[in-house]
Amino acid sequence: MSREILVNSAYIAASILFILGLKMLGRQTTARRGNLLSGLGMLIAIVVTLLDQHVVSFTWIVVGLAAGTAIGLACALLVRMTSMPEMVALLNGFGGLASLIVGAAEFFRIRGGTVTPEHAAFTSTSIYLTVLIGGITFTGSVYAFCKLAEWLSGRPVLFAGQHIVNGLMLAAMLGAGGLFVATGDGRLALASFGVFTALALVLGWTLVMPIGGGDMPVVISMLNSLSGLAACAAGFVIRNNVLVVAGCLVGTSGLILTAIMCRAMNRSLANVLFSGFGAAPAASAAGPEAGAITGELKPISPEDSFAVLEAARQVVIIPGYGMAVSQAQHVVRELAEMLERNGAEVRFAIHPVAGRMPGHMNVLLAEASVPYEQLVEMDAINPLMASMDVAVVIGANDVVNPAAARDKSSPIYGMPIINAHEARTVIALKRGKGTGFSGLENQLFLLPNTRMLYGDAKASLQGVVAEFKSLAGA
Ligand code: NAP
Repeated sequence: MSREILVNSAYIAASILFILGLKMLGRQTTARRGNLLSGLGMLIAIVVTLLDQHVVSFTWIVVGLAAGTAIGLACALLVRMTSMPEMVALLNGFGGLASLIVGAAEFFRIRGGTVTPEHAAFTSTSIYLTVLIGGITFTGSVYAFCKLAEWLSGRPVLFAGQHIVNGLMLAAMLGAGGLFVATGDGRLALASFGVFTALALVLGWTLVMPIGGGDMPVVISMLNSLSGLAACAAGFVIRNNVLVVAGCLVGTSGLILTAIMCRAMNRSLANVLFSGFGAAPAASAAGPEAGAITGELKPISPEDSFAVLEAARQVVIIPGYGMAVSQAQHVVRELAEMLERNGAEVRFAIHPVAGRMPGHMNVLLAEASVPYEQLVEMDAINPLMASMDVAVVIGANDVVNPAAARDKSSPIYGMPIINAHEARTVIALKRGKGTGFSGLENQLFLLPNTRMLYGDAKASLQGVVAEFKSLAGA
């Protein structure tokens, strides 16, 4: 069997493992095995590539491996769960930068006469796409990171003629690309390479500018998709089949995730990317009439919350971003166990965009060993909400805001919500009067059947759990 057939067979095996792994990641019960399978695929791809590519010196590869392992390990140990979105943003950015460097290196190799490409126009087009997508992904992701890490303002930055400026840059980039492909490796090619590389880097930044902090998860998922497409193009540049496949998989899965998030917020991708959502204070955008917020906030103590919960038979826990901030997932699980021992049926209602990244709540609750069977998706829990004795809303706000269903003037109108307001009693855990990510007031907290348990969610829950413990000890 020829060497080429052997290598490509190994790449096909790696690709199959990637696809199976991705499929298995879609279910909590198979996710761990899916991760292992994908890892195995990656190992095969790396080993085969290293053996096949006639590596001149392994020194730099070992240095890169050691540095990458050390940084990756430090990130895994040090980065907090709430900082995951910005971490992912940075990783996407590095992926884009790596592809850009591969494209640039190949261009200069060709210019230097080290290699002569078989299909010059195809190689130039691949280099162009790699550098273009890689560049946009890199600076876009760095800007997204800065916004999420609060190094820069998280608000959308808008200026007059923004879309026209972006459009002109895009057109100039296309023109420079055409020139680059047409001129091959001469002086003009070098000039056009410089132009579209610089423009791609600027465009990445300006494209993310008008996007607000809360929409960043969608943008990050889209940048993730772009980093995959850049890797795919880089695969064409260096003629590596497994990189083409892996890049395509990242590109398409990122795109699917982006579409899922947009659907869950009932917004189009164009609206997320170009509307500057959140640039103006959202409360005023809602208008005073239909969305008028009336009623009063009624505080409740942990002791009284315990009394309400102790009598409940059907309890639904609705976690949101605040649970992630306070890292209350372990004490939430403890409370759920106590409620069950007390004879209540407990469910966790999971909204698809609760928190700040897709699956945020699932990950946190899994970390606290909450049984998967207790997690109920929004569409399945809503028909049951009216039969719930108590809904415990833990640091969730927008995903339980009834304005999304009732108030046509609300910026979040149309976003599906968990109907917490239908439960007989609502206990909402918050630190104060903070709004959700959209900046909107929430009528749920002012309803006659809602009680506010103020304080950090973890501390408040510990108070309630302490009451259950003292009952058990009595
Ligand atoms: P949210 O609307 O951001 O509200 C979080 C609430 O948690 C705040 O009202 C805050 O009120 C409270 N909070 C913060 N820290 C707390 C603490 N330590 N203890 C107790 N409460 C605390 O959260 P959400 O309901 O989960 O909604 C998520 C939002 O993100 C949605 O609007 C969604 O569209 C958006 N989004 C999510 C994704 C995703 O992938 N998950 C993607 C794009 C957009 P206080 O300040 O008063 O405590």
